[in-house]
Amino acid sequence: MGEMTPSMVAETLYKIQQLDTEIASTKAQIEKLPEKHHLKEAGEERKSAESAVSLLERELGELRLKQHKLDGELEILSGKIAKEEEKLLSGKITNPKELSAIQDEIIFLRKKRDEMETEDLIMLDEIDALRDKVKKEKEKLVAAEESERLAKENYQKELAELQDKIAELERERDELKEQLGDTELVKTYEKLLEEKGGLAVVKMEGGRNCGGCRIEFTRTQIDRFQHEEGIFRCEYCRRILVK
Ligand SMILES: [Zn+2]
Repeated sequence: MGEMTPSMVAETLYKIQQLDTEIASTKAQIEKLPEKHHLKEAGEERKSAESAVSLLERELGELRLKQHKLDGELEILSGKIAKEEEKLLSGKITNPKELSAIQDEIIFLRKKRDEMETEDLIMLDEIDALRDKVKKEKEKLVAAEESERLAKENYQKELAELQDKIAELERERDELKEQLGDTELVKTYEKLLEEKGGLAVVKMEGGRNCGGCRIEFTRTQIDRFQHEEGIFRCEYCRRILVK
């Protein structure tokens, strides 16, 4: 401490306390940043858009597979019909009963093909509609990603500013601590800061109350505090009292 008088020490301690209080409130501010909340919300929106896209894409994939399979079946069926028609027109079959059976078979197969073609068209329509939905959801996802990116940018900007502020306050505080040196008083201060919810150094309030625990001091205590030099502690909460 060198040439520091007790009142200079007290004043320095009080400044350190003010800096620590500001550091603590800045840290609390970081926790409550609205940008942090926005970022979380934007992240949730992005995630839900992502899962909507992947769900629809899976649905689309399954439908395409089904439609592809149906196309294959239609091809086989058409081949069958062509074969039966060839048989009918070949002139090789003369038995009327057999001819009639082939005609019936052809009618049956054509009917089936019509049904399958109708089903195919419905499926193609569904695929188109689903593709549109996927497109729209993807656009939503792109927008959600963009707002998340912006929210992140804003949050990081705010965060960096506050962190810079904290670093600056801490540097200032540490310089003052260095002026006091590695003393018991500094250790006491640090211990009190931890134990007393971040408030280790207080002023007298209204000329008679502890600024920490609000206890009212006796006349004698107040006289001593006012007229003597030195570091005082509240007898009740043990906080350091400064003028
Ligand atoms: Zn007190």
